[in-house]
Amino acid sequence: MKIKTVKSHLISVPLTVKTWTAQEAFSDVSCLLVEIETDNGLQGIGQVAGPNLTLVRDYVQLFGDIIKSMDARSSTVVWEKLFSLTSPRPYGADAIDSLPPPLARTDRLQITAAIGGIDNALWDIKGKASNMPVFRLLGGEASTIPVYATGGYLKKGAPITACVGELKAFIDQGYTAVKLKVGHHTMEEEVERVSATRDAIGDAMLMLDMNACYDLNECIRFAKAVEPFNLTWLEEPLHWYLQPADFAKLAEATSIPLAHGERLYDRFTARDFIENGGIKFIQMDSTRHSGITEHLRIAHMAEQNGIFIAPHLAPEMHGHLVSAFPRAGFIAESHGEPDRNPLWHGGLFAKKAEIKDGYLHLNESAGFGYDINWDFVDKYRVN
Ligand SMILES: [Mg+2]
Repeated sequence: MKIKTVKSHLISVPLTVKTWTAQEAFSDVSCLLVEIETDNGLQGIGQVAGPNLTLVRDYVQLFGDIIKSMDARSSTVVWEKLFSLTSPRPYGADAIDSLPPPLARTDRLQITAAIGGIDNALWDIKGKASNMPVFRLLGGEASTIPVYATGGYLKKGAPITACVGELKAFIDQGYTAVKLKVGHHTMEEEVERVSATRDAIGDAMLMLDMNACYDLNECIRFAKAVEPFNLTWLEEPLHWYLQPADFAKLAEATSIPLAHGERLYDRFTARDFIENGGIKFIQMDSTRHSGITEHLRIAHMAEQNGIFIAPHLAPEMHGHLVSAFPRAGFIAESHGEPDRNPLWHGGLFAKKAEIKDGYLHLNESAGFGYDINWDFVDKYRVN
């Protein structure tokens, strides 16, 4: 079962309302689909999200030429071959082995994303080749996964407590867990938003996504202020440059569990947060970097260290992984508001796992269980 072609499709869908996190603005949602075909007629689709997808597309094309004719079932071998190109090797600069010289350090985020897109497509193929959903390939059993709705993005001009009605509406739709974006307003205003949201949603699970808005001492002060509101986790609490040792100090100082990982590229950086960072939830994203293969390695490491698995977005893929970890698989993430994610709520998928009554319902179709709506892809295609 040899890899015959590797293609990619870049789409960008404009948002009806521009939104902000504490760090960045969103006026559209983009996605790179990686399409791999095998010589026996199977097709796998992997997804990539994240910044600079045109560069990711270039790397997918480069890597496609390298992995052509490799066995599509050998996803770990493919992964290691591509990842090895990020480091020096004997005579690598001369490229005498017909592989490219060591790849640019500055492109690592896009390189690991390209590897991830290819890896995800190969997992889709492996499922189809064995006529099983990926969660069954991984040994999972339950096809119904708890899922939470993320909301509370900033919309300029809206009152600071606009999040209250939005998250309450998610609960009314059947979600039993919601996540609130914080970090844009002053600390006092954020505490007010959290307090008002807790009042509105009763006993439902509530997480905060902080998008790395605080220094260590600021964050300890904030954590103390929101401890009374029964929070499940503080996500990405500290500025981007702070390290596992800083997270460990924060974990010592607050009773609220910490969550982290959506911006870690590989198992080596994740290992240090798992072993020394005091976190209780790991939130890797197979669509941003390194794919299901690396995510699995990290998930096993997390389980060994008593850390729960709560992947970042893409529930139609990540639900399969959560299913395969009956002890440590905690929950999957979705965007609650249709306007914030026209890919999930709109027309990217002709078929996919569905969310109902606070659960993600995986289906029994082979691979990841999704079919792409190619008319939608053509409509929003970026050349
Ligand atoms: Mg986040």
